[in-house]
Order: sequence, then structure tokens, then C-alpha cells
Amino acid sequence: MRAITILGATGSIGASTLDLIRRNRAEWRVVALTAHSQASELVRLAREFRPEIAVIADESRLAELREGLAGTGIEAAGGGQALCEAAGRASDLTVSAIVGAAGLAPTMTAIEQGGVVALANKEALVSAGDVMTAAVARFGATLLPTDSEHNAIFQCLQAGRIEDVRSITLTASGGPFREWTWDQLRTATPAQALKHPNWNMGAKITIDSATMMNKGLEYIEAHRLFPVGLEKIRILVHPQSVIHSMVEYRDGSTLAQLGPSDMRVPIASCLAWPARMDTPCAPLDLVGLGTLSFFAPDEERFPATRLAREAAQAGGAAPAVLSAANEVAVAAFLAGQIAFTDISALVAQTLDSDLPPAPQCLDDVLAVDAVARVRAAEMLETTRVA
Ligand code: NAD
Ligand code: MG
Repeated sequence: MRAITILGATGSIGASTLDLIRRNRAEWRVVALTAHSQASELVRLAREFRPEIAVIADESRLAELREGLAGTGIEAAGGGQALCEAAGRASDLTVSAIVGAAGLAPTMTAIEQGGVVALANKEALVSAGDVMTAAVARFGATLLPTDSEHNAIFQCLQAGRIEDVRSITLTASGGPFREWTWDQLRTATPAQALKHPNWNMGAKITIDSATMMNKGLEYIEAHRLFPVGLEKIRILVHPQSVIHSMVEYRDGSTLAQLGPSDMRVPIASCLAWPARMDTPCAPLDLVGLGTLSFFAPDEERFPATRLAREAAQAGGAAPAVLSAANEVAVAAFLAGQIAFTDISALVAQTLDSDLPPAPQCLDDVLAVDAVARVRAAEMLETTRVA
């Protein structure tokens, strides 16, 4: 039996992970399950999967969690410190699936245990950058990329040496607004942006896919996971999301990983790594698909990938500022406070102000994140529509 912890168990990645665990119940012992504020959902999952501990980040919901787990023998805890305490418990695999910078501290705690971390929470790696990769090296931890593109690249890299890589191509669906004009984009509503053509995901990443900031964050994520140099990392729009990413080697061979648009495929590859396991996902029907198409990204209509590239080149605090400002902007868009096109504008404005010094430790990263949120909120006051 292997021991597993799932940070962000109530989310989309959490649900896909637990679906695979449910199908192989005898192989896994669940150590910890965590959630933000969905106490009743966490109670339901804890009663099914019997973890040692269930943690609710929002302490105001702890009473509800305690009540729901009374008499089960499962510990209930609340707040940020409890989240890190749970992430630090011994386990064979930690799935890092909290959304945004909120997942940074518990993910770092899991890394400091020197174990295996399946990383879906790209914002944590984007913000922490060197601080996280240095901790991975220092504590002998293993990061398994769970993001579908990075998982694809990780698989393609098994066939060659990183020194022999000529380029890495991240594919992007282009999102629901791929063919929209700028004028149409200006009036795009949250409901329209939340309808992703290929993937069923949490709200924040779905909006990031519509703005292409998801690909911008993934560009920085790839730079951190696969040290080939920024100039070798490319972005290609591929609306069918069948090819999840590609690696080109110096001899002219390009390897790609293909699969259905179902996160259970890359998650299964992390759960079973370095072996393989069954999933219930339907095999690819390439004849049914008929055609795969490819386009260059349009950074006029979707400036987010350019902002991310510039932040990656600037290094230091810039990626953390980009990611924090984007979190503020996406929340404001979802709350109806700003237009869709204001999301990237707000991120650009926040990056334009003086950047804090490069973070050297987790506390520095959290401080940069906090400062960037305050700045973005100030900019929001001048951007806010109606
Ligand atoms: P989601 O919104 O569905 O779930 C997020 C999870 O994080 C929930 O369990 C929620 O309770 C928890 N959470 C949110 N805020 C928190 C806070 N302040 N403190 C503690 N916990 C908190 O998101 P998701 O789509 O599952 O995405 C999770 C991560 O995985 C994101 O970083 C996303 O970019 C990445 N990712 C997701 C997909 C996907 O298909 N959903 C694909 C690739 C990468
Ligand atoms: Mg992805």
C-alpha cells in the first residue's frame, strides 16, 4: 500500500485524482485531504477515503468539519498552519492541487520532506521559481509534472538527454475566444469565458485559458522544470488538444505525447510513475478526429504570453508579481468588476511598477505576492468598469 496526501482534494484535479484512487482502493492509504472552505464536500470525501486527517483552510468552517467527522476517528483541523502540518506528514506521494499562491507554503512543506510531489499547482512554481527548485535539490525531493503539457514533455524527455534538446513546444487550445476579435473580447462575459471547448477545470484556470495566461504561466513552469533555456521554449496553438506537447532533439526527431483531454491521464502517469496503470479514459479516435490543426499564437489579441515571457526574462520577483496580479485580475473579472481585456492590462500595469528584490526564501516569495496583490488592487480602483 502506498500513502498519499491530496492538497486541494475538493477541486477538479482533486476529484480526478480521487476517482483513480477509488478504482484502485486497495493500493492506497490516504494520509491527508484538504480543502479551502467546502466543509460538507470535505466531510463526504473524508468519510469515503478515511484519511488520518482532513484540513479546512478557512478556520470559520472548522466546526462544521468537526461535526461532520465526529465519531469517525478522523482528525479535523483548520487554518494555514494545520494545512502545512498535514502536508508535512509522511507519505509516498503528495498531490499539490490547490489553486494559486495559497498552495505555495504546503507544497514547500511537502518538498522539504524529500518525497515525491505531483505538481498541478503551477502558480506555486511560477512564484517561487529558484526557491522551489533549490529546495527540491536540497531535500532530494522529486517533482512529477501533472500539468498535461509538462507531463507530456516529461514523458518525451525519457527518450533523450536534456543537453540534446533543440526545442520544447507547449501546445495551447487557444481557449473559447481563439477566433474572437479585440472588440468582441472587450465585451466577453465570465459565463462565456468559463465555457472551455476541450477541458473541464476549475474557474481560475479556465479564465487563464481564455486569456492565454495559462500558457504564459506554463511557459515559466516549463522553464523551471526543464532547464533548456527560455529561447528553446515555444508555444503553438492546437485547438483539438490531442498533442499535449512536444520535444525536438538535435538530430531532427520530434517526440510528442498524445491523449484524450482528460486530466486523469497525466494524473495516472504521476500516480503510477515510473510504472503505468489503467484509466477509464476512452482511447484516442484519430480517424474520428480526421484533422489536427496548428496556428501561431496571436499576442496582439492575447498579450498574456508576451507578459509572461518578459517576466521570465526579467526573472527575480517578476514571475511572482505576474502570477499574483493575475489572480487579483481574474477574481475581479469573475466578480464583474473589470472587462475581460482588462485582465492582461492590469497584470501589465502591476509589472510596470518598481519590482521588489528577487526572493531568496519562501517568506520573501510570500512577501512579494502580498505586495503585488496590494498594487494590483490599487490599479483595479482605476480600471474598474461601471
Ligand atoms: P479548483 O478551483 O477546481 O480546485 C482548487 C482546490 O484548491 C480546491 O480543493 C480548493 O478548496 C482549494 N483551495 C482554493 N483556494 C484555497 C486556499 N486559499 N487555501 C487552501 N485551499 C484552497 O482548481 P483546479 O482546476 O483543480 O486546479 C488546481 C491547480 O491545478 C491549479 O493550479 C491549476 O492551474 C492546476 N491545473 C489544473 C488543471 C485542470 O484540469 N483542472 C489542469 C492543469 C493544471
Ligand atoms: Mg496545462
